[in-house]
Amino acid sequence: MSKNFDVIIIGAGIMGCATAYELSKRGSNVALLEKDSLGVASSGKSSAIIRQHYSNELTARMALHSLRVFQNFGEQVGGECGFTPTGFVAVVDAKDQAGLEANVALQKRLGIQTEMISTSDLHSLMPALDITDLVSAVYEKESGYADPYLTVTSYATAAKREGTRLFLDTPVTGIRFEGGKVTGVDTPKGQFNAPVVLNSTGAWGAQIAQMAGVTVPINSCRVQVAFFRRPTGHEAPHPVFADFIRATYFRSETGGLTLVGLIDPGEADAVVDPDNFHEGVDDDFVMEAGERLIGRYPAMAQSQVTGGYAALYAITPDWHAIVDELIPGSGLYICAGFSGHGFKLGPAVSVMAADMLTGASDPLFDRHLFRLSRYAENDPVRGQYEYSIVG
Ligand SMILES: Cc1cc2nc3c(=O)[nH]c(=O)nc-3n(C[C@H](O)[C@H](O)[C@H](O)COP(=O)(O)OP(=O)(O)OC[C@H]3O[C@@H](n4cnc5c(N)ncnc54)[C@H](O)[C@@H]3O)c2cc1C
Repeated sequence: MSKNFDVIIIGAGIMGCATAYELSKRGSNVALLEKDSLGVASSGKSSAIIRQHYSNELTARMALHSLRVFQNFGEQVGGECGFTPTGFVAVVDAKDQAGLEANVALQKRLGIQTEMISTSDLHSLMPALDITDLVSAVYEKESGYADPYLTVTSYATAAKREGTRLFLDTPVTGIRFEGGKVTGVDTPKGQFNAPVVLNSTGAWGAQIAQMAGVTVPINSCRVQVAFFRRPTGHEAPHPVFADFIRATYFRSETGGLTLVGLIDPGEADAVVDPDNFHEGVDDDFVMEAGERLIGRYPAMAQSQVTGGYAALYAITPDWHAIVDELIPGSGLYICAGFSGHGFKLGPAVSVMAADMLTGASDPLFDRHLFRLSRYAENDPVRGQYEYSIVG
């Protein structure tokens, strides 16, 4: 078997699989190397909320581009992604009102279907909610959530259909260079050769970059989600809800469940070894998530806890990704550090990464915002909110 390729992609999460698909469609001979199996890391365990609410023009454009792919996944990629358009609501208090309004104005300019709604409109949309402390709310009727595992496996299938060679159980253990140019990678299954290598290993992104002697500020952080079965009378799915006041998000899950997670900058402090962390949910997290949920959705006091899990965010200092050549002129690239909100951007990221790897003269997205040097330049990505962890 020849192990010579145009491009080697390390890591088969949504970024690696979608980029392999995009590159193979363009005619590249791609090897996609995954140390484990599909969907085991962040992508397969994502809450997979698909919303457009972003503070920067680039990320908002990427979210809109990606939404159109999720909506038409069968035609554009093939297979299923489980997109469920329940709608999306975000609520803030007075401190973030101006930021919310600025975001909505930006998004409308880009063609995103989003609108400020009054608290009485919100009450009509979600009558079960306690809205007494709300100042402003925004509603995106086209948004919702996808099935994360299905999305990743469909992208992998589409990539293989277009010619990508997928190698599971194939951990990259080293990166080889000659004369300052990347020539391939080492694995227990032997060497793979290519003049272009992409590190799309999410929470392992810093570890892989270190194999080439480059330090990147990506931390592997443990985050949790919990599930609650909605009580009688509340079986119908509800919109995705981002509660910036209670620093919580929740969405419907199949089986009459509600999935709850936090929107909490403090999650960046839970740095763990990505190969050795507790993947179960903590009892105190379930208590905390439940209390925040009940505060907003009082009927959930009658819900049943049905479990939860822990998984990894790949967090950078400004909670935005690094999409760049790691060593200028070397052919070694990175596309990682999506910090808890990358899933919904996956389709757009695949175009951005493919444009970067093929040196496209007219890229669809300008990736300057995601350059590695922004940290050394003290020019991080900034959002409209006091904390910009939602993008
Ligand atoms: C609980 C949770 C909820 C989330 N909710 C949302 C949400 O609602 N909306 C949203 O947009 N985003 C969300 N995210 C974030 C989103 O899921 C991630 O940003 C995205 O999945 C990152 O994809 P990735 O491909 O970069 O990384 P991953 O999916 O982690 O893939 C990286 C892959 O690299 C592989 N790898 C590592 N080292 C090696 C090696 N040496 N050799 C070969 N392979 C290697 C790993 O095994 C892994 O499969 C959430 C994340 C989590 C954990």
